Amino acid sequence: MKIEKIEAIPFSIPYSKPMKYGLRGYLESADHVLIRVTTEDGITGLGEAMPRPIIYGESQTSIVWAVESWIAPRLKGLPLFGVEKIWDEMEPLRGNNTAKGAVDIAIHDALGKSLGIPIYKLLGGWTDKIPVAWIVGQLGTEEMIEECLQARREGIKSYKVKVGIDSKKDIEVIRLLREKLGDDAVIYVDANQAFSYHQASKVLPVMESYGIALVEEPIPIWDREGRVKLSRQITIPLMGDESVISPLDAKNQIDIGAITVISIKTPRTGYYQSRKIIHLAELAGFSCIIGTQVETDVGVLASAHFGAAFKIFAYPAELTYFLTMKDSLLQNPPKIENGMMALPNRPGLGAELDEEKIKYYRKDK
Ligand code: MG
Repeated sequence: MKIEKIEAIPFSIPYSKPMKYGLRGYLESADHVLIRVTTEDGITGLGEAMPRPIIYGESQTSIVWAVESWIAPRLKGLPLFGVEKIWDEMEPLRGNNTAKGAVDIAIHDALGKSLGIPIYKLLGGWTDKIPVAWIVGQLGTEEMIEECLQARREGIKSYKVKVGIDSKKDIEVIRLLREKLGDDAVIYVDANQAFSYHQASKVLPVMESYGIALVEEPIPIWDREGRVKLSRQITIPLMGDESVISPLDAKNQIDIGAITVISIKTPRTGYYQSRKIIHLAELAGFSCIIGTQVETDVGVLASAHFGAAFKIFAYPAELTYFLTMKDSLLQNPPKIENGMMALPNRPGLGAELDEEKIKYYRKDK
């Protein structure tokens, strides 16, 4: 079974409220790229690529270029059951992580469909449902608290809070969240590298006194010494996200010795590279978490399958932001019940694309 065609379809769906994170992060809509692989037998597979110019240097236009001009011509005619060969063709293209990652996922979707097996079973089959976490961006204090309380009413028990701009406010938000959500809630923070080492050294011990479970990328990832010192000053795990966007990064971070948890984002490492990272993490005694690129339901399903396939995921998956999207690309969007997402027991990703929706939201026609 050979690969016949790979399409890259740019689209835009608004969020109901913008996501603000780190010093400059601001997203009003999901301006992503839908990847569709078709085999010569007519089997299709889907993936979603998310441009993050300030993190990976990719744009919607560059992803379309990478797929249409580089990847698709090289993969056409290759066997679908040849992921190693497929990556051998994609790897010489430097960077372009999310373009390659989304193609890899679309190929796995087609593989699963051709075998009649859901992806989570194909990859590892650890479980068939996963707990999920709520992500709250940098909003007004009351709005942040209200969002988390609403998430709790829907059964969610884990909350990630974006911090790093205003330490005083950050501490107050964490204090209030602990008070209102109770002792059992898992609360953790992500600064997207916005604190300096000295700020983080002051803020984190106070947040620790309110029982935060983890801290994600508190300070710039180039501050190797600061990250190591900080990790020794705090008692909670430091989680790597922007510092671990490839298997080589994972190896380097293990050697440096600052982090002990890795955020796995299948949009940037596909399944192929994500597996390498979790296996390195396993050998280092690390835990992992399924992170988000605030994807639509297509990307959410892709990450959820990976999170269900392996036992290394010790924390709830960050796969809820699609609920704030004004529309869905799928006829069967994933559902969250009591803080859990069940994986569809259908071949591949189990994603049924709504053709009318993609026609409506695509930006190239
Ligand atoms: Mg992060």
